[in-house]
Amino acid sequence: TRQFFVGGNFKLNPTSLTASKSLIDVLNKGDLDPNTEVVIAPPSIYLLSVLDSVRKEVKVAAQNAYFKESGAFTGEISPKQLVDAGIPYVVLGHSERRTIFHETSELVATKTKAAIEAGLKVILCIGETLQEREAGKTAEVCEAQLKAVVDGIKEADWSKIVIAYEPVWAIGTGKVATSAQAQQAHADVRSYLAKAVSTSVANETQILYGGSVTAANCKELAKQQDVDGFLVGGASLKPEFIDIINARR
Ligand code: 13P
Repeated sequence: TRQFFVGGNFKLNPTSLTASKSLIDVLNKGDLDPNTEVVIAPPSIYLLSVLDSVRKEVKVAAQNAYFKESGAFTGEISPKQLVDAGIPYVVLGHSERRTIFHETSELVATKTKAAIEAGLKVILCIGETLQEREAGKTAEVCEAQLKAVVDGIKEADWSKIVIAYEPVWAIGTGKVATSAQAQQAHADVRSYLAKAVSTSVANETQILYGGSVTAANCKELAKQQDVDGFLVGGASLKPEFIDIINARR
């Protein structure tokens, strides 16, 4: 059985070290379901502060990493640096990286391979736009985004990957996918993994839902058979993040 997993993607928030420390305080004082794996992804400038102060049950993720170990790549962070600093996870392929920063599926796949080789676990984000959904292309788009990764890594590497299905139209919009929409997309991703990798990878890979998850809608989504947790943006900055972590309790 797949462990329930809740990630908090803080994105470019908050905007002070003091506010970052207050967020961690709330998490440190919360009553968290011990059966949920919790990972938070603060901005890179706060990673070490968060790592020092957060309770040990909560793991820390970077929001991005480059595929090179070191060198003349101004502005980047390397997987080797993250591993050395004690950061176990990295989020890759977030839709904001794909759209605003023009990251292609090929670049995301190269980064995923490099991150795994360096010893990181990867939260790999995929998902369709509204236009793609309306054209009936949801499964096709998710498969194409995954295929780039499938082609670049070994079967055993999938134990280091958590997939986050995040429909672009649901991110930051307040328009959450229905439980049926999420379940269908997750089931399609799982059957693609069965076909393209193996049935054991399909059965064992955690698939998170992301996009306008709140305390109010998480319980229904968490009941779906192929929804193994959430990647939370806006609500991860609020006390209700605790309720989302406890969605299965
Ligand atoms: P929201 O929860 O703010 O919609 O963001 C989801 C997301 O992008 C998590 O990575």
